[in-house]
Amino acid sequence: MVKAKGKPVKTRRSMLLATAVLLSVAAIILLFMGLRAGGWAAKKENMQLLTLVNADNPVPDDRQQEYTILDEGWMLDERCAAELQQLLSACREAGFDPEISEALVTRGLQEERFEARVQELVAQGLDEESARAEAARTVQPAGYSEHELGLAVDLRDADEDDDAMVAWLEENAWRFGFILRYPDGKSGVTGVGYVPWHYRYVGREAAQQIWELGLTLEEYIELFYPEQ
Ligand SMILES: [Zn+2]
Repeated sequence: MVKAKGKPVKTRRSMLLATAVLLSVAAIILLFMGLRAGGWAAKKENMQLLTLVNADNPVPDDRQQEYTILDEGWMLDERCAAELQQLLSACREAGFDPEISEALVTRGLQEERFEARVQELVAQGLDEESARAEAARTVQPAGYSEHELGLAVDLRDADEDDDAMVAWLEENAWRFGFILRYPDGKSGVTGVGYVPWHYRYVGREAAQQIWELGLTLEEYIELFYPEQ
């Protein structure tokens, strides 16, 4: 009887041990899955900030974003509003007088601007088709403007000392997560000539890498996110 009793006790112990081991393994797996999910969420967030918009890549329709209205009345994606203010403050501390001359542009407004340019060219004697092609050289058609993302701003110096401020921004904007989107000499890649006032928010990590490696957004995405 005593001998026979010993066996179930031992069995119960090994069952308890096995259960404990299983629970630990399950906890580790859950923790790992949680970390992976967190990593994916962060990556998805990063990818949204890196959304590529150019002549071949229209603004995606399924974007989800929240906007912030800045003191100046401009609207921007809330994910870059605070850092834009920091960039503007730093720029003021450096002795400039930066102001925003463009931020979020709605699809409708972009369409109006593009159509207005087309009509101007038609009035100058171009036929409709040529006018559209010509207009697209200076105004992005609706759906193809980075300003529709709410992640781009145009900055100018209210004192009109643009050259010095342009140089300062080129050197420092990356510290706040912004990049000069259309650098000099890169129109072969971006499809757009040098635009010294147009800055695009991509987040600090990407902005730093883009600055250090001297890349455009197109080149950065191809290098770091080739599967996109
Ligand atoms: Zn712009």
